[in-house]
Amino acid sequence: SKKLTIGLIPADGIGREVIPAARQVLESLPKSDSSPQFEYIHLDAGFEYFQKHGVALPEETLVRLREECQGALFGAVSSPSHKVAGYSSPIVALRKHLDLYANVRPVASVSGTTQKPLDMLIIRENTECLERIETDANGLRVAWADRKISEFASRRAGTMAFNMALMRDKLRRSTSAPSLWQGPPKVTIVHKSNVLSVTDGLWRETVRAVKESNPDLYGSVTMEEQLVDSMVYRMFREPEAFDVVVAPNLYGDIISDGAAALVGSLGLVPSANVGDNFVVGEPVHGSAPDIAGQQKANPIAAIRSAGLLLEHMGYASEAARIYEAVDGVLREGQICTPDLGGSSTTQEVTDAICKRL
Ligand code: NAD
Ligand code: MN
Repeated sequence: SKKLTIGLIPADGIGREVIPAARQVLESLPKSDSSPQFEYIHLDAGFEYFQKHGVALPEETLVRLREECQGALFGAVSSPSHKVAGYSSPIVALRKHLDLYANVRPVASVSGTTQKPLDMLIIRENTECLERIETDANGLRVAWADRKISEFASRRAGTMAFNMALMRDKLRRSTSAPSLWQGPPKVTIVHKSNVLSVTDGLWRETVRAVKESNPDLYGSVTMEEQLVDSMVYRMFREPEAFDVVVAPNLYGDIISDGAAALVGSLGLVPSANVGDNFVVGEPVHGSAPDIAGQQKANPIAAIRSAGLLLEHMGYASEAARIYEAVDGVLREGQICTPDLGGSSTTQEVTDAICKRL
């Protein structure tokens, strides 16, 4: 069977609890001739590493990812809210160095476990809306946030969204399980181009053009738009009305934490940072310093991220096994961490999932 080397980057806080949990699940997958044979290498990054060594993303981590790994799992980093000289977020740098231009975030409810059903896929543009410049005026500080939106990045994110919409449609047609979304595949473009007409206007126009210039490929996909504020409103009122949602970096970040509340916890939502040549699985949540080191972290976001990693590396059936085991534990509802109202530990939830593989 094929050998796959996975880089494990737990980084800070609960990243150090949930990444080992995800590894345990990968190691517990039943072995078959077609399943890959995993090898793991531990890689350093994060704010704690920065405090000890003066660098948040060591060169060795980047080199070994590029040269030895086929994919990676990232935990979470504790990025301080104040400026720390010499520090910048390693996950942002990693996305940039490996050109992981889309962050794919499935948020779906397990039937019977949430008040409102939903099954949406958020595509967050992963490379822009970040740049920052600061200037002085009359001795007082003036800070500017440069909202960079490029046609290039918008087109890549848009193309990912339309392709994913087609893929989800195909998957729904091929299974007998009832699906929440009944209509033709749909892409919702999120923006605020009534106010930010230049930047978000370019985003909107470019994503629309992905479909309009490829009628043969994307003709079956419905396209709609939603201003980001009303997107939040609509998502909380009728989350079942969304299939694929594509948003600029910052909006995508904010919308996905909101969507996480709808499925019950940030500790449930996975993501994959996807480029043309590499994938890094990463839970949507942060390092959760309030619960770190107490075995209270929900490992499911990280475990599902391992599933997404496999899915994007071409191992859909192994990924499906992981998703089914997780859904089974959630549906049963007995073994869960405090964020879901239970009292089980990170390890107990992980063991319960492994038992169902
Ligand atoms: P957070 O996501 O770490 O935590 C928000 C809340 O959700 C907390 O109450 C936390 O306990 C809870 N939570 C998060 N994940 C959970 C899990 N798996 N199980 C149970 N409960 C969970 O966000 P924050 O508190 O705003 O940020 C903390 C730190 O994380 C900051 O330094 C921030 O910069 C960083 N952060 C990193 C990433 C990343 O690495 N990609 C993302 C977001 C925030
Ligand atoms: Mn976030």
